[in-house]
Amino acid sequence: MDNDCVFCKIAAGIIPTVKILDSDQVCAFRDLNPQAPVHVLVIPKKHFPTLAEMASEPALLGELTSAAVGLAGELGLAENGYRLVLNCRDHGGQTVYHVHMHLLGGRMMRWPPG
Ligand code: 5GP
Ligand code: ZN
Repeated sequence: MDNDCVFCKIAAGIIPTVKILDSDQVCAFRDLNPQAPVHVLVIPKKHFPTLAEMASEPALLGELTSAAVGLAGELGLAENGYRLVLNCRDHGGQTVYHVHMHLLGGRMMRWPPG
């Protein structure tokens, strides 16, 4: 755990947050500043600052994706669709340096992103 990391604190329950998924290695919760009617963050409980540090963990990356797809179904997004986003470093728009997958849905998404 990184003591300065907000998502480590959420994963550990130090910052109380309603989890919509809580498994051994992964958890998920609603984004504080939602960009769509459904905006969920799916994170590994272990601290990886960026995708680069997580590249050696393909099973965990797969688990993040499976968790997001499962939640999309549970949240009623499967029929109309949804977007999964992983931002990496400055140009990718990453602001929290603990890997997280955004699950966005409930409205039409624009492409390309800004
Ligand atoms: P990024 O820009 O790094 O891909 O996304 C970080 C996301 O984390 C943003 O959408 C932001 O709203 C969200 N966020 C930042 N701090 C918190 C927090 O303390 N709680 C929750 N639930 N979301 C947060
Ligand atoms: Zn962290």
